[in-house]
Amino acid sequence: MRVQFWGVRGSIPVPGPLTQRYGGNTSCIQVDVGASPVIIFDSGTGIRKLGQQLAALGAPQEIHIFISHAHWDHIQGLPFFDPLYQAGNRITFYSRKRDEFCLRDIIHKVIEDPYFPLSHEDWKADVNFVELEDGAGAGLAPGLVMSSSRLNHPLIANAYRIDHGGRSVVYVTDTAPFDHMILDRDFIAKAPDLSAPVAPEVTDQLVQMKDQLVQLCSGADVVIYDTMFTDEEYGRNPHWGHSAATHAVDICTLAGARHLVIFHHAPERTDDQMDRLMEEIVARFGDANLTISPAIEGRVIEIG
Ligand SMILES: [Zn+2]
Ligand SMILES: [Zn+2]
Repeated sequence: MRVQFWGVRGSIPVPGPLTQRYGGNTSCIQVDVGASPVIIFDSGTGIRKLGQQLAALGAPQEIHIFISHAHWDHIQGLPFFDPLYQAGNRITFYSRKRDEFCLRDIIHKVIEDPYFPLSHEDWKADVNFVELEDGAGAGLAPGLVMSSSRLNHPLIANAYRIDHGGRSVVYVTDTAPFDHMILDRDFIAKAPDLSAPVAPEVTDQLVQMKDQLVQLCSGADVVIYDTMFTDEEYGRNPHWGHSAATHAVDICTLAGARHLVIFHHAPERTDDQMDRLMEEIVARFGDANLTISPAIEGRVIEIG
């Protein structure tokens, strides 16, 4: 199993000299299991280059794209994903089932006039959308299994795990920790008081959500985790729905995961600041049981 990072940034693309080393494109990761199908986590701006590479290989290809949620930084590259415009490709999108709207409608709405010169009617590939109930899984091919779990984020995101040949990778973005509040359909406009007591029913739901995520990460070779914040930044904006390394390490330790990848870097974080942050994180949390390393655009992690 091979994991390749095409976009590692959170919120908005930030190209330029200060982000050149870690990369400025938003969320997109490819998981290569050595044969068909192609597996992709999210379609932020990083998916454009990946699409060019896949399109050069020619059709037909089977491609599975797992969307964490529909915030811009996770879907913005999609109109530029060349395999959509190639006949013979079969592309399946997966997302969490929602009551109020579905991913297909969101994507159709933003990829059309006046936002984009083409529409979904110009797609030549056979495109399907699968909506997942909380905790749902699916077999993608013989020996290739996907499982999922809901996260704690405004408008709710999904985490995904891929298992193949005894190897596993989990993609966990975007999420707040499971300590203080439930982030659901509504955006909480003002930071709540973190020292205020949490209602027992809220705690129960958070404990359940956390248990399911720990289960999803159980024994994983690699866990890619939303660690956009420092502890201090989390304290200032806990309602934004992102974690710090502290929270990711807690989940990975409980799950017995082997390698934590720091991901969804804050847009304002420069390369030099990322270097310092990584040094701090590794010095504080790294040990013989847990490797910690950063997601870097272009980086490849070979598992096994
Ligand atoms: Zn995001
Ligand atoms: Zn988000």
